[in-house]
Amino acid sequence: MPRPISATISLSSLTHNLATVSKQLETACSKNGSKRPSIWAVIKANAYGHGIRNAVPAFAQADGLAMLDFDEALLCRELGWDKPLLMLEGLFEPGDVALLDRHRLVSAVHCQEQIDILAASKVSRPLDIFVKLNSGMNRLGFAPEQYSDAFRRLLALHERGTVNIVGKMSHFARADDDPDATRRQLDLFIKATQGLPGSVSVCNSAATLTPTIWPALPGGPDQWVRPGICLYGASPFDGRPADEFGLMPAQTLAAKLISVSELQAGASVGYGYTFTSSAKMRIGVVACGYADGYPRHAGTGTPVTVDGVRTRLLGRVSMDMLVVDLTPVPNAHVGSHVVLWGQGGPSVDEVAKAAGTIGYELLCAVAPRVPKFAV
Ligand SMILES: *Cc1c(COP(=O)(O)O)cnc(C)c1O
Repeated sequence: MPRPISATISLSSLTHNLATVSKQLETACSKNGSKRPSIWAVIKANAYGHGIRNAVPAFAQADGLAMLDFDEALLCRELGWDKPLLMLEGLFEPGDVALLDRHRLVSAVHCQEQIDILAASKVSRPLDIFVKLNSGMNRLGFAPEQYSDAFRRLLALHERGTVNIVGKMSHFARADDDPDATRRQLDLFIKATQGLPGSVSVCNSAATLTPTIWPALPGGPDQWVRPGICLYGASPFDGRPADEFGLMPAQTLAAKLISVSELQAGASVGYGYTFTSSAKMRIGVVACGYADGYPRHAGTGTPVTVDGVRTRLLGRVSMDMLVVDLTPVPNAHVGSHVVLWGQGGPSVDEVAKAAGTIGYELLCAVAPRVPKFAV
């Protein structure tokens, strides 16, 4: 028998979440009489742990897909995806130009070294590119004072038939928690890109779900948003659950109880004895540990569902097991169904918060040893 743990990926949730985001954009845009922007569904990191093979058919209605691994982009083409694919970090080395060319990939261009490579390359047709501005996050992109020069260099490559400048992009650092900081980034973007041709792409999930940003956005319908996390049914906002936006969890991590026992008053649980019972209680051992991708930093009190009843984790998470409180589930037994996160259990965001991290990290980190099923 395989170990009783699995991750289930709901294709209908993925499709539902994309449709929900699309609808919200439409509504927000119709208020100022504009068309909804195009959507790059972000599927980097193996579609946030959901599998490229699942994401490609589930996101069939997206206008394009965005990622950063060339292997993932090529897999999308193999799976028959014929619409645009955006490489969020662009090329890493000269050899990547041939891949961009052969597979008609759209590339971000964020530094002079990439322009140098493009300038020295031959292509069969102009490569579609988005030119990235560093508007304050200080990760990738040209500084505002370098942006127009970089753009001019690329326009020269455009003349030579090497590139086709499709758009201008940037990335928000605090769209989830600081509207003022986001507004400053947006103002910088508008100023630095003014008068330069191309569509606009600046919005991650948090910005896409924040309609108040919309009136300030340049580009009108000629705009591409780049939602990721919300498409997987998790929230980009601390303290605002995903269901508030009508999103459904797409990944469910479930396991079973492999042991049930009584814990005596004064007895402790697990490594470090971090939980000690004040009274006699029933506990269960779940076939899930940190080697499965469950966060070791989740401590006593982290929510978990046993046979549909919400209860809590006890003590430290081990490599292959964790212990739960069965007090609210008196009928629980060996084989009882346990949902660690997802449908029928706590949200991945709740578990992440208890572990001092974010849902993104947990969704991406489910271990290869956990069998994954698409439904
Ligand atoms: C990951 C990523 C996104 C999507 O971010 P979410 O917060 O998951 O919506 C958008 N743009 C870029 C450049 C990214 O790297």
